[in-house]
Amino acid sequence: MTIKNYKMFIDGEWVGAVRDKTFASYDPSTGKVWASFPEADKVDVDKAVTAADTAFRSKKWQALTATKRGELLRNLSKLCEENIEQLADLETLDNGKLIRETRGQASFLPEFLNYFAGLADKVEGAVLPVNKADMFCYSVRQAVGVVAAIVPWNSPLYLTVLKLAPAIAAGNTLVIKPSEHASATLLELANLAQKAGFPAGVINVITGYGHTTGDALTKHPKISRIAFTGGIGGARQIIRNSAENLSKVTVELGGKSPNIVFEDADIESAVNGVVAGIFAASGQSCVAGSRVLVHKDIKPEFLERLTDRARSIVIGSPRSKDSEMGPIATAQQLQTIEDFVERAKGEGARLHYGGERHSSKSDGWFYCPTIFDCDHEDYEIVREEIFGPVASILTFENEEEALQKANNSKYGLGAGVWTKSLARAHRMVSQIHSGIVWVNTYRAVSPMAPIGGFHDSGYGREGGIDAINEYTDVKTVWINMSEETMPDPFIMR
Ligand code: NAD
Repeated sequence: MTIKNYKMFIDGEWVGAVRDKTFASYDPSTGKVWASFPEADKVDVDKAVTAADTAFRSKKWQALTATKRGELLRNLSKLCEENIEQLADLETLDNGKLIRETRGQASFLPEFLNYFAGLADKVEGAVLPVNKADMFCYSVRQAVGVVAAIVPWNSPLYLTVLKLAPAIAAGNTLVIKPSEHASATLLELANLAQKAGFPAGVINVITGYGHTTGDALTKHPKISRIAFTGGIGGARQIIRNSAENLSKVTVELGGKSPNIVFEDADIESAVNGVVAGIFAASGQSCVAGSRVLVHKDIKPEFLERLTDRARSIVIGSPRSKDSEMGPIATAQQLQTIEDFVERAKGEGARLHYGGERHSSKSDGWFYCPTIFDCDHEDYEIVREEIFGPVASILTFENEEEALQKANNSKYGLGAGVWTKSLARAHRMVSQIHSGIVWVNTYRAVSPMAPIGGFHDSGYGREGGIDAINEYTDVKTVWINMSEETMPDPFIMR
């Protein structure tokens, strides 16, 4: 296979790293190198941030009306729509996600871009009814400046558009850093942004590792806002870095989401919802419903049906339309999953199904859907995010116990509730500690609906109207309407 050599996109130009360093990217379905990317160091990071800062301050960008920024987002939306297949193919090649999943996510891009395009010219200030008769006081929301957007490998396009669309709508410029494991589609997005008419420097994409490129980016003094999606280790370092410049930060992190099945649930739907929660995307989803809480009365039937469905999952090439589970994105992540499973067995957790690499797929990084039947919550696999297709089944006897177990986690990102009782659903919704609760569904997303977590799942929200506020600062303006001479300067007015 010929290796594709990518360049970064800085200030409207396709460039290599100043010191010419590169790194390799692997196709997870074969384990072979398919592309190489420039490894940006401090000098490249500085070039990109300076370009974004210059573009932000330029008369051209400052003079562009919010409506015109919306038009740029709509142009990009149209180009994404025309290139859904190409973007999906590329993402599948790069991170090994199923083509049906990457196609689905690519088809969200126009929706999210259009939603924020529409919001661009609806960012309003307020006239403030201050209790001073001679003063006219109002507030405006202004762009913050240069945004550093850092995303993981599991959904690069979708997670970037969640940041780019509100950031541009609000008038900011960006430096985007994809994961070192899946950089290709964001360079393609930059290519589409250039075609869409974004001025040079407004959207820049630099490639490299987290602890080098990402670290330099988040320490850069001209970064005003950091939008990070990834793991908690990187998040902690980024928050520390942000202290240097007091840049605003949102961190969208992982989870250990409970999927709670009550005895009155539609079992077929609940089984499908649990499968969607933990085996879709091979469990490499921040909202993976990895803790499955089942009412004890229906557990035997539920477990049997879940296991039957897990057994029937078609594991194969992510490019095949028949595959239901593809590979794990990196060799290192595959090893992490194996280590979690081995430690769980060592702790005495009962392996009910799976628990091994998929033997017939020796070339790529495939892992079987795995189910542990857990008699208590102290196992590491019940407490920690695995980011793989490993479900822990736990039981409960009543609502109170379900809630206690659901909330017994340091994370709080997603939760699923399966019940036919509307009253019970509302009781659960109000008491579950998580940023998203799905009732009789799972993994539904929409541009209008905020995404984000509680506790170790991070802070800040993406999606929805309020996402714009995350990319603006409020400015308060006082205008003295009186014709009189300014009185005593030594008192506070
Ligand atoms: P990761 O934290 O290793 O990497 C994410 C990104 O951060 C990459 O671009 C990486 O290069 C960069 N990075 C890492 N350390 C950094 C540092 N010190 N400074 C600056 N940048 C740094 O995460 P990953 O393994 O790519 O992704 C998996 C994690 O992402 C999981 O925990 C998953 O739950 C989480 N995730 C969360 C959401 C959400 O919306 N909440 C969505 C998808 C994934």
